[in-house]
Amino acid sequence: AKRSGRGRHACFEPVLRQRVTERIRLEAALRHAIHHDELRLYYQPVVSAATGRVEAVEALLRWQHPERGLIMPGDFIPMAEETGLIVPLGRWVIEQACRQAVLWQNMQGGSPELRISVNLSPRQIAQPRLVEDVRTILAGVSSSGKRIRFGFEVTETVMMHDPQASADTLCALRELGAHLSLDDFGTGYSSMAYLKHLPFDTLKIDRTFIKGVADDDSDRSIIRSMLALADGLNLDVVAEGVETEAQRQTLQTLGIQRMQGYLFARPQPAENIERMMGGSLEA
Ligand code: C2E
Ligand code: CA
Ligand code: CA
Ligand code: CA
Repeated sequence: AKRSGRGRHACFEPVLRQRVTERIRLEAALRHAIHHDELRLYYQPVVSAATGRVEAVEALLRWQHPERGLIMPGDFIPMAEETGLIVPLGRWVIEQACRQAVLWQNMQGGSPELRISVNLSPRQIAQPRLVEDVRTILAGVSSSGKRIRFGFEVTETVMMHDPQASADTLCALRELGAHLSLDDFGTGYSSMAYLKHLPFDTLKIDRTFIKGVADDDSDRSIIRSMLALADGLNLDVVAEGVETEAQRQTLQTLGIQRMQGYLFARPQPAENIERMMGGSLEA
């Protein structure tokens, strides 16, 4: 039965209030988590399709909540973005990833091949202090003065607010030695215009285009044109979300060399990555 506008309002108000309360509680809990060792970085390999070799890892944030268990980023990153908590949170992520890079570099006995990439959200990019923070973190972690291989992943949405400021920040990060990837490529808009002016090294093709690639002609056409674009702009390409052998084969036939997805490995704690890489991370 239809209800009047007023009736509906009265009916939903308690639900809304409950939601607001829940949110405030979550925000306080996340604030607490940053300082009480409840955050974890998981790492997902990016592999060479031909050899299976791990060429890089992407750091993905998890929240190990004492009561609720492992909370996925989709359930707290948007809130952290809105409240600005993403800034201290993101700083923790960058520092943790850089420390891990140094650890792995030392284990490798001086062959720092593995790059660690960290996701940056629009609000982080908009922070004037980001570049300075990264500089400070790098100086703090690299005891030997050896350079670590690190990178950042950003989506096209970072360019929507202040394109010039974002571009400047990205350029400054690249000057610090960061490899830059354009994440979720194909899901945003006016990608083409940005690409020409931004210092990206890699395009990560979003998994929505990978899903149907083995049996959908139009997905294959889209990927072919993305590859032509990447080639023209001299960018590397990574296919995200590769789950099946059929997808892997099709993508390889299309000419994609680097892939990431459950077919190869799920995001996992650092120790598992070490085990996965076998002897190659040991000195
Ligand atoms: P993203 O950067 O696009 O990361 C890829 C997501 O796809 C990850 O989800 C990963 O677990 C998932 N994935 C990887 N392979 C497959 C596959 O084969 N199939 C499927 N279905 N999914 C796959 P996750 O870890 O839940 O992260 C979600 C998003 O949260 C990330 O998307 C990223 O935007 C954001 N995020 C994660 N960690 C951080 C962080 O430290 N900082 C910021 N700002 N954002 C983060
Ligand atoms: Ca990413
Ligand atoms: Ca992505
Ligand atoms: Ca995404």
